[in-house]
Amino acid sequence: MTAEDKTRLAALLDTSGDFLRDEHWREREAPLFEDDAADSVAQTAMGAGGDSLETIAADVRECRVCGLCGLRILPVPGEGVRQPLVLVIGEAPGSEEDERGKPFVGAAGRLLDRMLASINLSRTTNCFITNTVKCRPPGNRDPSPQETAACAPFLARQIRILRPAYILCMGRIAAQTMLRTSEGIGRLRGKFFDYTPDCPLDNAVIAPIPLIATYHPSALLRDANLKRPAWEDLKTLLAHIQP
Ligand code: SF4
Repeated sequence: MTAEDKTRLAALLDTSGDFLRDEHWREREAPLFEDDAADSVAQTAMGAGGDSLETIAADVRECRVCGLCGLRILPVPGEGVRQPLVLVIGEAPGSEEDERGKPFVGAAGRLLDRMLASINLSRTTNCFITNTVKCRPPGNRDPSPQETAACAPFLARQIRILRPAYILCMGRIAAQTMLRTSEGIGRLRGKFFDYTPDCPLDNAVIAPIPLIATYHPSALLRDANLKRPAWEDLKTLLAHIQP
């Protein structure tokens, strides 16, 4: 809202209050207002260096930096809201994601949506969902360290623009990549870490982001025994979001 709009609104409220009180208009000094910062959507969509989610998605579509580019049908930059409460990071696109260019749309994606919904999260209202690598590794193998490193600048740029309040890593690869560790998911899941974003473009200082990891929904589909600990992890995240 502009300062002029705010001044008009304040005058209208004052006048209405006066007439409701005693039908007598009072002389008063107009308060000073400032324009709001730029539109919040534009603000988060456009980073300090002129970067934007759209630019990143376009760059991902053009990317030929690692060998996965020659094997993909569609790259999968990610999707969700522009000011996410939670940034959900998976490993890499699977076959259905590869065909549709959207993250987490297969059976694991449907389970992820249900997991998020159980703690009032959704890719349409308060989350952004992406992966550590944006193109599908063949045969659903793990992305190699070289592929993950090659793709890391895209994720760093996304985080720099999205500025999520929390990061939720789904599975071992995402957790190990974000936390730069080789620890197993059994040790990494269910507790908070501080993730300090890389700012490769402008060296901006971004406050550490609380990060928690849990099992990948694909793992839950393979082993139902993991559902209970995953639920505990989600409740831990919820307790932070809604203390
Ligand atoms: Fe580029 Fe990442 Fe795709 Fe490799 S996985 S081609 S680095 S977008």
